[in-house]
Amino acid sequence: MSTIPALMPNYARLDLSFDRGEGAWLHATNGRRYLDFAAGIAVTSLGHAHPHLVEALTRQAGKLWHCSNLFRIPEQERLAERLVAASFADSVLFCNSGAEAIEASLKLARRYQFERLGGVRRWRTLVTQNAFHGRTMATIAAGGQQKHIHGFEPVMEGFDRVPYGDLEAARAAITPETGAILVEPIQGEGGVHPAPAGYLAGLRALADQEGLVLILDEVQTGMGRTGTLFAHELDGIVPDVVATAKGLGGGFPVGACLARGPFAGVLTAGTHGTTFGGNPLAMAVGNAVLDVLLADGFLEQVRAHAATLRAGLEALVARYPGLLAEVRGRGLLLGLACRCPNADLLSALRDEGLLAVPAADNVVRLLPPLTLGLADIEAAEACLARACARLAGETV
Ligand SMILES: *Cc1c(COP(=O)(O)O)cnc(C)c1O
Repeated sequence: MSTIPALMPNYARLDLSFDRGEGAWLHATNGRRYLDFAAGIAVTSLGHAHPHLVEALTRQAGKLWHCSNLFRIPEQERLAERLVAASFADSVLFCNSGAEAIEASLKLARRYQFERLGGVRRWRTLVTQNAFHGRTMATIAAGGQQKHIHGFEPVMEGFDRVPYGDLEAARAAITPETGAILVEPIQGEGGVHPAPAGYLAGLRALADQEGLVLILDEVQTGMGRTGTLFAHELDGIVPDVVATAKGLGGGFPVGACLARGPFAGVLTAGTHGTTFGGNPLAMAVGNAVLDVLLADGFLEQVRAHAATLRAGLEALVARYPGLLAEVRGRGLLLGLACRCPNADLLSALRDEGLLAVPAADNVVRLLPPLTLGLADIEAAEACLARACARLAGETV
């Protein structure tokens, strides 16, 4: 008999599993109930078992699951039209994950420059330190993190790295071979670092001057997470290409690459493809997610709840300066920069019934569902206060 676990060991999983979710809450098989501020890493943005999403998926499941992109898929056309109407974009390509959305964006930029200049001239991409773009070969090269690259060399060529937020460094790093800039509006995995004021606008101007494609990685920040449909709206800029994924399917795997004007038609028939991308199930759920996100007042409410939650977190930081350094982020993509080990706070929070996610730079990331209510915020604040009190050695 084999002693090798059937599942490959690429995740150090917690010994915790769930059999049911409801709104902001998860029910574990150990009988406990957890307030879910992890949201499957910013994915279940409308909470668990949202009735409108359940209805859309089950209705579609009874009709048609898959037919391939060899045929027209009406739900796909509809979702594309709605994303176009609600954003900077003129056209959309669907795929199944964040990394695939980044891959499509990188391929689009290369192809755009190839067609424009009649050959492989501007094929390199400017990327930033501390970035995260996924775990495929191209996206680990773009992210450039040693912990993701180690042992997988040789690394794909063509990425030039500059410090995040440093416009002058970006300008200085452009060469005659640079064709694109790829950047996150808020570095999520990298520790919840929002772009400094003026940075994205500066990159926009730079891309215009130099004829570069400005690609934003909104895989985590997109689909309402920041209280706007896309994070770049807060910076008042128009990107060329945006990759998004996590919140788009509310837990159903789907990704999208959005592009405007001259970039919209680059990936012509035969240049790129995906068997599963944009299948009827994913599209039915994506349309249902948009129904909720774009409903009157929904994003306003996200912003209001985000401000309430943030104020509570600021108060916590003021009360426990020995444990917590600061609150970072925008909307409901919030990071608590810790002075204690972030793993200790995460574990204490779990003991109190609150799930959150680590991020680099010793950060505890809070990614509640956008649908959370004031009662959920109060429950989370109570868990946070008890966890901090315990870590600070107060009797609770
Ligand atoms: C999660 C994430 C990705 C990768 O998405 P996958 O669906 O895991 O491939 C890429 N970029 C950012 C900013 C992310 O947060």
